Amino acid sequence: MARQLNKNISEEKVVAEFAVRHAMITRLAIVAALITGVAFFFLYKGLASNTTAIILFITIFILAAFVNIKVWRCPSCGGHLGKLYLGLKQPKHCPNCGIKLVE
Ligand SMILES: [Zn+2]
Repeated sequence: MARQLNKNISEEKVVAEFAVRHAMITRLAIVAALITGVAFFFLYKGLASNTTAIILFITIFILAAFVNIKVWRCPSCGGHLGKLYLGLKQPKHCPNCGIKLVE
C-alpha cells in the first residue's frame, strides 16, 4: 500500500502536498461550476436535451465524489479530511493524525 510508505514523510512535504491537493480540488470545482453553468445555458436555450444535461450532471457528481474520496486525504496518514468546503475553509491539521497541513 502506497499510503503506508508515506507515513514518515516530513512535515514540510505534508504541507506542500496538501497545498497541491487543495489547489487541484479548487481548480476542479471551478471547472465543474463552469461546465454546469454552460450546460444550464444550453438547456435554457434549448440547445441540449434534458437527457444530455442529466448525464452531464451525474458525471460531474460522480467525479466530485471520486475526488472527495480519493484526493481529499491527509498526505501523511491517508485519513479522510472530513467535509470539503471547496476553498472556503480548510483544515489546519489532519483530524486523524493531527499533523500540520497549513503553514
Ligand atoms: Zn493524517
